[in-house]
Amino acid sequence: MWETVIGLEVHTELSAKSKIFCGCDTSFGAKPNTQVCPVCAGMPGSLPKLNIAVVERAIRLGLALNCEIRRSCKFDRKNYFYPDLPKAYQISQLYSPICMGGYMEIGGKRIGIREIHMEEDAGKLIHDSGFTYMDFNRCGVPLLEIVSQPDFRGSDEVIAYLEALREMLLYLDVSDCKMQEGSLRADINLSVRPIGGDLGVRTEMKNLSSFRAIGRAIEHEAARQTKILESGGKVIQETRRWDDIKGESYSMRSKENAHDYRYFPEPDLLPLEIDEQWLARIRRGIPELAHQKRDRYARDFGLAVSAAAALTAHRNIADLFEDLTRESAQPLEVANLITGEIMRLMNRTNTLSEDLRIDAKKLATLISLVINAKISRNSYKQAVGEVFMRDTDPREYITKHGLMMISDDNAAAEAVNAVLAENPEAVKDYKCGKDKAFGFLMGQAMKKLGGAADPKTVGNMLREVLGDC
Ligand code: ADP
Ligand code: MG
Ligand code: ZN
Repeated sequence: MWETVIGLEVHTELSAKSKIFCGCDTSFGAKPNTQVCPVCAGMPGSLPKLNIAVVERAIRLGLALNCEIRRSCKFDRKNYFYPDLPKAYQISQLYSPICMGGYMEIGGKRIGIREIHMEEDAGKLIHDSGFTYMDFNRCGVPLLEIVSQPDFRGSDEVIAYLEALREMLLYLDVSDCKMQEGSLRADINLSVRPIGGDLGVRTEMKNLSSFRAIGRAIEHEAARQTKILESGGKVIQETRRWDDIKGESYSMRSKENAHDYRYFPEPDLLPLEIDEQWLARIRRGIPELAHQKRDRYARDFGLAVSAAAALTAHRNIADLFEDLTRESAQPLEVANLITGEIMRLMNRTNTLSEDLRIDAKKLATLISLVINAKISRNSYKQAVGEVFMRDTDPREYITKHGLMMISDDNAAAEAVNAVLAENPEAVKDYKCGKDKAFGFLMGQAMKKLGGAADPKTVGNMLREVLGDC
């Protein structure tokens, strides 16, 4: 019997505002070649300067992944010739990466992290009607590469790891992880071996950027290699390209080795020294992570595991939950509101969690109104929608549309008495045991009050008065 062995190299583009070795803007989608300077364009004589915001992000992630942070680390040049790389080398870390030897727990299993290193991205080639255009905006955009041990045994584990990693990168504000913008991409190293045997020969599929494609590519490659091995053949060590549309992979080139890149220490950058104080400061700034929040929500607020998971899937949602809970002191009501109405509205309007902006104070006002039976559940939903769509002031909205329920018992009593006087037949039916008559009378009373009354109060009053008839 065979088993699949997978190791991942994940590249993530950092949320730092400027590039790794110059001050150019990193924002996505700008006009081609408008975010370039002599340094990131590789002009002779220009010198790189390390962006400290990149180092801080690398350390933050390293600490969250239980890595050892090197007190002194260096950069190296990886030389290769390709039109998207005007310098003809990439500055990376081969010999002493900043973070070493960590792990991530997924579903009770430990996935080893071999290292995390910092490097720069290359530019982008755009092929169009027989021409190739070069956009150097992405040259020098900071990347972290997170290299795992070959600890995965199937696509489920890989996807679970990537989801957890994505969540962590977002919580730590290391990356925005927009997969459609290529902010998170994975190289999949995969081999097949007899269960428990020695590591087999692997292939590598580069640059996959959707969870679905990653899952499919793994299944396909594992099956391809198993078939080769079962028929007594040998897997060739090579780089393969996954074509997600065809659902097939094909060979791109034989695997390159480190010596193909003529690595050598980057002479234009000093070694980076990280002292204890700096490290301690970064450690203190690490926020509570998603899995820690999940445990706390379940423990402190008695939330179901599924609700706690939904509320922590994105930091923005968790922040909203916590703000609203602080404002309203009604954690269960808040959890229901967010996992119900708010998420429904987000779906309907295609709002991503990272783009959610909603005023917690305004929502808290509505929660307090509905909890104290000042507005009906229906009006509550309606007003939540208004706050979500138009940032409407909830009190003004409720007043303007007459949604405040009449809590004044006199008005309710008056209405109940009038209804009974007007409908002697129904009163008789009720006395003869016809339950339907009660519903009818109730409906009439609510109508008289314009729907603006607490049905429970009116119902109780009606029952009381009918009992006396
Ligand atoms: P390279 O120098 O080609 O990048 P590395 O040794 O750095 O190779 O490993 C890259 C990734 O491949 C790591 O995530 C590692 O866990 C994984 N890997 C290495 N050997 C195997 C193997 N035989 N099967 C599956 N994955 C492997
Ligand atoms: Mg590699
Ligand atoms: Zn630049």
